[in-house]
Amino acid sequence: MDYLAALTRVVDDVVGPNAAEVDRTGAFPRASLRALAEAGLLGLCSSREVGGGGEGLRAGAAVVAGLAQACGSTAMVVLMHYSAAAAIEALGPDDVRHAIAAGEHLTTLAFSEVGSRSQFWAPLSSAIPHGNVDVRLDAAKSWVTSAGEADSYVWSSRPVAAEGPLTVWLVPADTPGVSVAGDFDGLGLRGNGSRPVRGEGAVIPAANRLGEDGAGLDLALSIILPWFLIGSAAFSVGLMRAVIAETTTHLTATQLEHLGQTLARQPGLRADLAQMQITADAADALLGDCLNAVEHGREDATLRVLEVKASAGEASIDVTDLAMKVCGGAAFRRELGVERRFRDARAARVMAPTTDALRDFIGRALTGLPLLGEA
Ligand SMILES: Cc1cc2nc3c(=O)[nH]c(=O)nc-3n(C[C@H](O)[C@H](O)[C@H](O)COP(=O)(O)OP(=O)(O)OC[C@H]3O[C@@H](n4cnc5c(N)ncnc54)[C@H](O)[C@@H]3O)c2cc1C
Repeated sequence: MDYLAALTRVVDDVVGPNAAEVDRTGAFPRASLRALAEAGLLGLCSSREVGGGGEGLRAGAAVVAGLAQACGSTAMVVLMHYSAAAAIEALGPDDVRHAIAAGEHLTTLAFSEVGSRSQFWAPLSSAIPHGNVDVRLDAAKSWVTSAGEADSYVWSSRPVAAEGPLTVWLVPADTPGVSVAGDFDGLGLRGNGSRPVRGEGAVIPAANRLGEDGAGLDLALSIILPWFLIGSAAFSVGLMRAVIAETTTHLTATQLEHLGQTLARQPGLRADLAQMQITADAADALLGDCLNAVEHGREDATLRVLEVKASAGEASIDVTDLAMKVCGGAAFRRELGVERRFRDARAARVMAPTTDALRDFIGRALTGLPLLGEA
């Protein structure tokens, strides 16, 4: 499947034209998700064995980057879908894997909690046995992208009985006792529907556990996080590419009429644009190296995976901040699109693992300390 051609079509026909309205109203981008499903892009990274596109991290990252160039909200929904789908693909039931591959099932991650906040490795929510074959989930999830829109949640809890830090479940969104517990009126990514979700006596089959009881952190670190961290970096790179293009257009198309010159004739503005390009290229190059490291099983692959989101997320904040300066008052108005990029970029810093947490993980890895626990 020529997924890049399919992506270009969907972006040009649906995602791009809807992006400003999704941002303005905060509406979930359903039309974009439908078009992506029909084009086979929601099942792109499911294995061929279940009818998916059989692609991996590199293709998933390219799709997220392409979407982020047009609509951050849609890109975030797809990023969370790919991250959660990777866990289901590895450990979930065949019927759900088939449905994801067919583009008929949207999923997402329900990790962050009201109590432990961005420290998703320490959930406070519970899973307790209910009869012989079920478990009862109780939780206060603080942010879930696509809440109330997704068909399932990949959901963390404390273990039922095991010693480990957490257990992961596949929770059908229509499970009685699972409810969306608030609205989302955010600064950026306004259409991604990141709302709180509550579990109150939500009973699911114990067989919906993804992996062993207590082994959820291994699942998160080995399968979910590479998808999320690499996809998040790709998101930031796509966003930077878009804002650099928008800034370039502004500089080359806008006149200083009293001088008879375009803004591009101002050396300071060109220097800022150059810095934007250098920052974006550096982050993109690290992302490329990370993908190579993962694909070739290089020794530094884990370190690179930890680095890419922090690198690209912070880069996109710097680049969009410069774009706001270079494009001046024009950028302050909505029509240029630059202020939307500026707002959307800021989520990466605080999405878990946050930039601060990643820097701590990287420092621990470099000094031979465990990623989590007492340092
Ligand atoms: C748009 C958006 C979409 C989201 N979608 C999802 C989703 O689909 N699923 C999901 O599970 N979550 C999601 N989240 C939640 C996200 O992953 C974080 O959990 C959340 O943003 C953290 O917010 P908080 O107020 O709880 O931050 P806090 O945890 O209170 O953090 C505040 C500050 O403390 C710092 N800090 C916290 N812990 C550490 C540490 N160990 N080391 C160093 N510094 C630390 C942080 O870096 C941050 O700067 C989403 C968030 C946003 C903004």
